[in-house]
Amino acid sequence: WSQARRGCRPAADEAFTNSLGVVTVTTMDPAPVPHVDAVVVGAGFAGLYALHRLRSQGLSVRVFEAAPEVGGTWYYNRYPGARCDVESVDYCYSFSDELQQEWNWSEKYATQAEILDYLNWVADKLDLRRDITFGTRVNSAILDETTLRWTVRTDGGEEVAARFVVMATGALSAAMTPDIPGLDTFGGEVYHTAHWPQAGVDFTGKRVAVIGTGSSGIQSIPLIAEQAAQLYVFQRTPNYSVPAGNRPLSAEELAEIKAGYPERRRVSFRSGGGSPHVAHSSPTLEVPPAERRAEFEKRWQLGGVLFSKTFPDQMTDLGANAEAKRFWEEKIRAVVDDPQVAELLIPDDHPIGAKRICTDSNYFQTFNSPHVQLVSVRRTPITAIDATGIVTTEAHFDVDAIVFATGFDALTGSLGKIDIAGRGGERLADDWAAGPRTYLGLGDDGFPNLFMITGPGSPAVLANMVLGAEAHVDWIADAITYLDENGYAAIEPTPDAVDNWLAELAQRAASTLFVKADSWYLGANVPGKPRVFMLFCGGFGVYNDICADVAASGYKGFRLIPA
Ligand code: FAD
Ligand code: NAP
Repeated sequence: WSQARRGCRPAADEAFTNSLGVVTVTTMDPAPVPHVDAVVVGAGFAGLYALHRLRSQGLSVRVFEAAPEVGGTWYYNRYPGARCDVESVDYCYSFSDELQQEWNWSEKYATQAEILDYLNWVADKLDLRRDITFGTRVNSAILDETTLRWTVRTDGGEEVAARFVVMATGALSAAMTPDIPGLDTFGGEVYHTAHWPQAGVDFTGKRVAVIGTGSSGIQSIPLIAEQAAQLYVFQRTPNYSVPAGNRPLSAEELAEIKAGYPERRRVSFRSGGGSPHVAHSSPTLEVPPAERRAEFEKRWQLGGVLFSKTFPDQMTDLGANAEAKRFWEEKIRAVVDDPQVAELLIPDDHPIGAKRICTDSNYFQTFNSPHVQLVSVRRTPITAIDATGIVTTEAHFDVDAIVFATGFDALTGSLGKIDIAGRGGERLADDWAAGPRTYLGLGDDGFPNLFMITGPGSPAVLANMVLGAEAHVDWIADAITYLDENGYAAIEPTPDAVDNWLAELAQRAASTLFVKADSWYLGANVPGKPRVFMLFCGGFGVYNDICADVAASGYKGFRLIPA
C-alpha cells in the first residue's frame, strides 16, 4: 500500500523569462514530496527505539528532532544533580539483551551525563543517526483524507509524506517559565533547569534564587548551595522527597543483576510502576505496627519514588496514606535543625505520593546551612522581578542569578505546539480543548495512523518511562504488521472506544488519592489548562494486559480501514 501511493504534488505553473524578456508560463511537475512509511517526531528514549524497531521490520523511517543531538530529556536537563529516579539498571532499554549486557551503569541512580552517554552509545551501536534530522522542529502534520497519508512539515520548510506518524515528543519536554512581571528587566543571569547551558554554570560566590521545589529544584538545590554565597529557595508547595541512597554499583552487583535480567524485566513489566519491586501484600493497617514501620524503613532505604508503593492501599486509602506520611514527617523533622523551617518544608495540602515523590541527596539538610534561606511564596507571594532581584509582598531579594525549576506543560505541551489536523481538517488541539482524548493513550479518533508514545491516557510518568516507551513502540509496530498482513491501510480508534477509555481513566483516578493534589498530572500547574487527570493509574502491568488483550482480539475499539 505504501509503495503504491507514493505521492507527488499536483502539477504547478512555473515562469521562464527568455532573452527578449518574454515570460512564458509552462506547466511542469515539481519535485515530488518524499515519502516514507513512518515519520517519528523526537529522538529521546522513545523515538530512538521507534526508529530501530520500525526500521528492523522493513519500514522506511524518518526522524525529526528539534535538538541538535539525541537524548531528549537527557539532552536538555543538564542542571546540577540531574539523575534518574528509577534505578539505572531498570531505567534502560530491555529490548536487546546485548545492550543490557554490554553497558555498565556506574551508580544506582545515573547522572544526566551518563544517561546521555548511554543514549549516544545506543544510537551509534544501532546506527540510528543516519535516519535522524537534527535541529529540525516539526510544525505540522496534516492528513490527506483521500490517501490517508500525512504531510509532515518542518520549521526548515521541508515536507515529507508518511503513512504513519509516531509522536515521540515527550511527556515532559515543554518547559514552563512563569510569567512574572518584570522578568525581562532582570540584569542578572536567568536559567531554566530544562534548558541548562551545555557548558554548565558556575555559581561560586553568587547570590542565587531558585524558584520551584519539584524534582528538578530538589535535585539541584543542594549542589547550587555548595557553590553559591547565598541561596534563596522560593517554595510554593512543599514536596515529599525521599533520599536516593545513591551509591556506586560494584562489579559483583552488576554481574548479578545482568544474570537476573530476564526475571527482573518480567516482574517489571507486570508491576505497578515498571520496576522489579513489588508492594507488600497486605493493606497498611492490617500489618502490625512494628512490621509496618520496618516495611516503611525498608522502602526508605531502597530510596526514592518507590516509597509511595510500600503498601498496596497507600494511594487509595487516606488512613493508609496517613501512616506513610507520619513516617516520612518523622524522618524530615530528624534532619532539619530549625523546627520552623521543618514545618515549612512539610506538605500539609496533599497526600504523600499524590504528586510524584521526589528523590534527593541531602535536600532537607541543605536548609541547615546559614547561607540558605527558604522563602514561602504561599505566605509572601512573588509580585515582580526587577533589575536586581525578586520582589515579594514582604521583601526584596538581591540576586545575581535566578534559576527557574518551574516544570513543564506536561503530557500535552509538546504535542500542542504541533498543528495536527485529522479527518475533516479537525485540529487535535480543538479536539483536546476540554482535556486530551485518546484510546489507550495510543491514538485518537479522527487521526488514523497517528500514534503517541507514553502520551496522555497511558500510565506514562506513573511508571518507568523507558519500559513504557518500549511497550508502546512494540504495540504500534505489531499493529502495523497486522495491518499489512491483513490488507488494511489504516487503524483508528472509534469515538466510542475513546469515550469509554476516558470514562475508565476518570473512574480509576476517582478511586485514588491522585485527584487530591494540584499536580501536573491534572494540568493544575498550567494556567487555564483543563483540570483532568490525564493518566491511567491502574498500574503498568494491568495496562500492558489491556493493550495485549486489545491486540489479541483483532484490535477491538479500533476501526481497521481496508487498503
Ligand atoms: P523526551 O526525552 O522528552 O524526548 C522528546 C524529544 O522530542 C525531545 O528531544 C524534543 O526536542 C523532541 N520534540 C518535541 N517536539 C518536537 C517537534 N515538534 N519537532 C521535533 N522534535 C520535537 N522518567 C522515568 O521513568 N524515570 C526517571 O528517572 C526520570 N527522570 C527524569 C528526570 C528529568 C529531569 C525529567 C525532566 C524527566 C524524567 N523522567 C523520568 C521522564 C522522562 O521524560 C522520560 O523518562 C523519558 O526520558 C522520555 O523519553 P521520550 O523519548 O518519551 O521523550
Ligand atoms: P514540577 O514538579 O512541576 O515542579 C515545579 C515547581 O515549580 C513546583 O514546586 C511548583 O510549585 C513551582 N512553581 C511553578 N510555577 C511557579 C510560580 N509561578 N511561582 C512559584 N513556584 C512555581 O517540575 P519539575 O521539578 O521539573 O519535575 C517535573 C517532573 O519531571 C517530575 O515530577 C518527574 O516526573 C520528572 N523529573 C524527575 C527527576 C528525577 O528525579 N529523576 C528530576 C526532575 C524531573 P507548585 O507545586 O505549587 O505548582
